[in-house]
This record gives sequence, C-alpha cells and structure tokens, in this order.
Amino acid sequence: MQEKISLFWHRRDLRIADNAGLYRALHNSNKVQPLFIFDKNILDKLDDKTDARVTFIHQTITNLKLAYQQYGSDLAVYYGDPLTIFAQLLTTYNIANVYTNTDYESYGINRDAAITQLLASHYIDFKSYKDQVIFEQLEVTKDDGLPYTVYTPYSRKWKAKLTPYYYKPYPTIQYCTNLVATKPTALQSLQSMGFDESALVFPTDQLDINIAKNYTQQRDIPSINGTSRLGLHLRFGTISIRQLVQQAIGLNETYLNELIWRDFYHQITYNYPHINQGISFKKQYDAIEWRHSEADYNSWCKGLTGYPIVDAGMRELNATGFMHNRVRMITASFLIKHLLIDWRLGEAYFAKKLLDFDFAANNGGWQWASSSGCDAAPYFRIFNPYLQTKKFDPELKYIKKWVPEFEDFTKYPQPIVNHEFARQRCLDAYSKALKQT
Ligand code: FAD
Repeated sequence: MQEKISLFWHRRDLRIADNAGLYRALHNSNKVQPLFIFDKNILDKLDDKTDARVTFIHQTITNLKLAYQQYGSDLAVYYGDPLTIFAQLLTTYNIANVYTNTDYESYGINRDAAITQLLASHYIDFKSYKDQVIFEQLEVTKDDGLPYTVYTPYSRKWKAKLTPYYYKPYPTIQYCTNLVATKPTALQSLQSMGFDESALVFPTDQLDINIAKNYTQQRDIPSINGTSRLGLHLRFGTISIRQLVQQAIGLNETYLNELIWRDFYHQITYNYPHINQGISFKKQYDAIEWRHSEADYNSWCKGLTGYPIVDAGMRELNATGFMHNRVRMITASFLIKHLLIDWRLGEAYFAKKLLDFDFAANNGGWQWASSSGCDAAPYFRIFNPYLQTKKFDPELKYIKKWVPEFEDFTKYPQPIVNHEFARQRCLDAYSKALKQT
C-alpha cells in the first residue's frame, strides 16, 4: 500500500509564503504534494495565442517550481481539464485530503463542486480556505445578516471588524519540511499548450512606498505613475492581500479603501450569482435597447473615436495590458453612454486585454459605468470627455503619450459622435427602458 499524502492545489495563489490553504495542508499533514493545473477549459477560450497572462502564469510557475525544489520537493504541473486530472490523480496517489483556497466565481464554484463530489466518492475531503480576500461571502453583512450592496457602509463595517487577526501572515515557510521529497521535473513549454511568449514587461510585485504615501493626491492623474500596479499580482496571488492590507494600514487610508473595493466586489459576485450569467445587477436595466454598430465598437477598441482621452486610454490598454482607473471609467462610460453599446461588449474586451482582469472588479466597474450596478453612478450622469480631460489631464501629457499624432483638438479627427447628441440619445434610451419596468 502506497503511503498516504495530501495534495495542495494552487489556483489564484501562486506563492508559498503566507498562503492560507498551503499552511493548513502543511500544518495538518507531514506529506504534502503541491500541484498546479493549466486549465484547458480556460486556455481554449483565449483567442490570442500570445496572451500575456499565460506567459505571466508560465513564468510564475517556473519560479514556483524552483522555490519548491529548494525544499527538496517540486510542484507537479498538469495541463488539461481539472476534473479529468483529479480522476487520474486518484490512480497515481494514495490521497488523504486535498487542500486549496476558495474561488468565488461561478466557473470555479462549479468546478470545485464537481471535484468535491468525485473525491467524496473516494472518501477524500476537499478542504478550501479563504486566502484571496480579507472578508469573504457573508463575513461583513448588514445588521439583518443580508449582504451590503452599497460600498460606504460596507467599508465602515469592514474597518470596524478588522483586527490584526485577519491580516497576520500564515507562517507557511516554517512547515515546508512537510513537503513530499521528490526529484525535480521539467515544466511543459508554452508552445506545447499552443501558446507563444508575450514580449510584455510585467510590473513588480512590491508595493512602492512613495506611491502609496502620495496615493491620495496622485491616483487620479493618469499621466503620473501614481497607482501601485499590483492588480496583476493580486489577481494571481503572487502577492498576499494580508501583507498588502498590513502595509496600507500604516501608509495610506485611501489606498486601503481601494483594497476594500476589491473585497466588496468579490462578495457581490458571490452573493448575487446572477451577475455571473451576464445579467445586470439591477435587472430593470436589461430593458435598454442597445445600438448594434460594429464600426463604432471597432473604433472604440482601436482608440479611433475622435475623443483623444478615450483614444489614449484604449491605446494604453492595447499596448500594455493596463489602463489607468480614471481612464477606465471614461472609456467605459463612452462606450456605453456615448455609443449606446451594451456594456457587456466592453466588459468582454477588457477581460481579453487587461493583465489584472478579475471578473468581480471588472464586472463591478462596467456595471458602475452603465448605472446598472449595485452602487453605481446614476444613469443621467454622463461623463463629458472634454471636461474629464481638463480636470485630470490638463496639460494633455497622458493624451500625448498614447496618441503621438495629437497636436491640438482642432487638428484631431472628427469625433465619431457629437457629445450633446449622444448625451440626449442616451438619456432617452435609459429613461424609456426604466419607465417600462
Ligand atoms: P491601485 O489604484 O494601486 O489599487 C490597488 C488595488 O486595489 C488594485 O490593484 C485592485 O486590486 C484594487 N482596486 C482598486 N480599485 C478598485 C476598484 N474600483 N474595484 C475593485 N478593486 C479595486 N480592477 C481589477 O483588479 N481588475 C479588473 O478587471 C478591473 N476592471 C475594471 C473595469 C472598469 C470599467 C473599471 C472602471 C475599473 C476596473 N478595475 C479593475 C478597478 C481599477 O481600475 C483597477 O483595480 C486599477 O486601475 C488597477 O491598477 P492598480 O493595480 O495600479 O490599482
């Protein structure tokens, strides 16, 4: 009879240090085999075969394997459908328990339910822990126990509940002697999974202390490097949210508030699963009659709308996989309210392009812009791209960086839609839809 081992499955937590589920596995078992699966169901849906996020994951897994090898162990890496792979693992190992960290999105919830069932039929527990967020699911609720749908009272309760217990690091490293001793194995290449390396440069996983200190004054100015650029690392768990919250507490409350927005949208995704199905948070907004214009949509995607701030944002996104938050709000509002194109098309474009793409935050941002979200801008608030430029890019530095042909507004190509006309068209479409319901 083979010796019993426990498995730890890495997903959105690609690090060893301060990893909640890995800590539990190593603490409870003296034989832990870590593993990662390149999920074919997800990868097959990516049509860009140089998708930078796949390169990032591959580089991170390479480093993670090296880190495990330093403890005399190794990360086992698979490529395929997770359920099929777990069925094979049952024949490879004599498994005691499977440990992981909780995933709050529909795909992850359904995948984990299927794996839980498979393992249960072999009397094996699937143990899942909170790691991605500070407070999950129904940990921060209104007094009546219902989830919050408005950010400000949620954040107040979040802060009132926070004690060092919630952000103290898990001492994983201390228990790494409990990893299964194995010989190192080679990692499959990106090419073997149908991908090629992206040339994009990834931001570092360290919080820049000066950026955090000046965050309140600088975060809204897109020409300044004034935000942390840690979204990608939070997405894939190459940084721990507990570590970041601990740093934010000592440095800048505005920055902490942004991390709370992240928890807020995660609990919304979990508690209101209809948003995972493409349905508006406020369902009455699904009565809006959207325009279907491929030409306008393509102009938006390419950054050729004739509105320099919108064009700059889309070109920054296309070139780097990043777009500044202020400009995300402007470009999203423009697609939805100026072009009257369904926010779901914009959401999907951002999902394809953003390095930090995260369903909860992206859906939250898009539904905020379309006014259909939980704590959204009122529908009659329509950003004027020129006023936004005046306020947030007064010296046109950001525009000139991303739209190099821009000289001045008079020489720039004509807008694809007139601002006043678009504003009225949007107000008419929204009020018609909302009156109907
Ligand atoms: P910082 O300003 O340094 O903030 C630190 C971290 O806080 C971020 O990395 C992020 O994890 C979190 N955060 C900040 N703002 C928000 C917010 N409004 N909602 C949730 N979390 C937040 N953020 C994503 O992480 N993934 C997305 O796919 C995403 N899509 C968006 C789409 C739209 C239309 C809009 C308006 C916003 C979106 N955001 C998204 C939120 C925000 O724009 C990004 O988190 C931020 O710009 C990332 O840059 P940063 O890492 O420098 O953030």
